[in-house]
Amino acid sequence: MRDRKRATVRDLRRENRAAVLWSLYLEQSRSRQELSAATGLSPASVTNVIRELIDEGIVIETGLVESDGGRPRAMLGMNPEYGYVIGVDIGETRTRVELFDLTMAERAKAEYPLDQAAQHDVAVVVGQIASGLAKVIADSGIDKGAVLGVGIGVPGIIERGPEVLVHGQTYGWDAVPLGRLLRAHTDLPLRFDNGAQTMGQAELWFGAGRGARNAVMVLIGSGTGASLISGGATYQGATSSAAEFGHVTVALGGRKCRCGASGCLEAYVGADAILERYGQPIAPDQERALAELIDAADASPHAAAILDETAQYLGAGIGTLINLFNPERVIIGGWAGLLLGPRLLPGIRESARNQSLHHLFAATSIDLGKLGPDAVARGAATLPMESFLNG
Ligand SMILES: [Zn+2]
Repeated sequence: MRDRKRATVRDLRRENRAAVLWSLYLEQSRSRQELSAATGLSPASVTNVIRELIDEGIVIETGLVESDGGRPRAMLGMNPEYGYVIGVDIGETRTRVELFDLTMAERAKAEYPLDQAAQHDVAVVVGQIASGLAKVIADSGIDKGAVLGVGIGVPGIIERGPEVLVHGQTYGWDAVPLGRLLRAHTDLPLRFDNGAQTMGQAELWFGAGRGARNAVMVLIGSGTGASLISGGATYQGATSSAAEFGHVTVALGGRKCRCGASGCLEAYVGADAILERYGQPIAPDQERALAELIDAADASPHAAAILDETAQYLGAGIGTLINLFNPERVIIGGWAGLLLGPRLLPGIRESARNQSLHHLFAATSIDLGKLGPDAVARGAATLPMESFLNG
């Protein structure tokens, strides 16, 4: 009985700590009073938890603010030097590795372009990640022991059995044991998620999705994916592969898709597909080729027509998402989405309006992500951070 009571007290203490840490992590800076209001904990509990966290070096006082008539209030924040997290984006055109401190400030990064000819050779990607981990730790000058963990965003479906297996049907990864392969290069804790999901997480917490309860994050790169935010949390699906949005059918019997089916959305709006439709299928540097296509559209009716058609298809796909999920926000990200967005957004909105129910469309906004192409890596870094905050 006494053991059980002790366990309950310990659980409660951990929950209080987690509530305070989450609040400081997401809001960056708060006073004890604000923490009490935000977490629902009593001022005394907040004071106790904060004392403990300051003693451990996890939280610091970041400054003082005047308060009406009373003593100035201390503002509190995460101690950036207490620990670090690393986010990895196994993208379609490059592998990114970025190191962040506890305030999510980026401290070092490494990028490795993927040779379009070699595609996603597993050994190449694993080698890039291993080099990237060593490089960001060395460049930031931190002690490796202070790294809390590594989060990895992969463009595929993750199977979480006895070991983590990655299925990336469109780039030839069939049950790749990525965890085991990386283990040969690092002993840091590893966490995995789909890249569209990690992008969604980053935009939800730090970008265009802040404060949204129900949102859809659309990721457009060489291919297309999405992440669903439902009730303020990422919707995972049975195998954490919810929203393989690129493979919904938009044209029966349409263009052949990389997945083997035909008429998928991705076969029209992924960068691969856009360049192919433009007549430039094999670009050694896809990012540059797409940027050039967009520049050309001012003078070239052919380029302009390809982009207009892309906006139509993407808008139709987003209209379907609006009809199915009734999101308050749709956010478009990914390297290609961010390149295309400024020019295509009006056309995308128009097409989505035509293809969704008026009432649902009126309750939605469609905008671009705010975090740039690093959003996948930043979101991946939140995976080990979550474990840390929850204790
Ligand atoms: Zn497909």
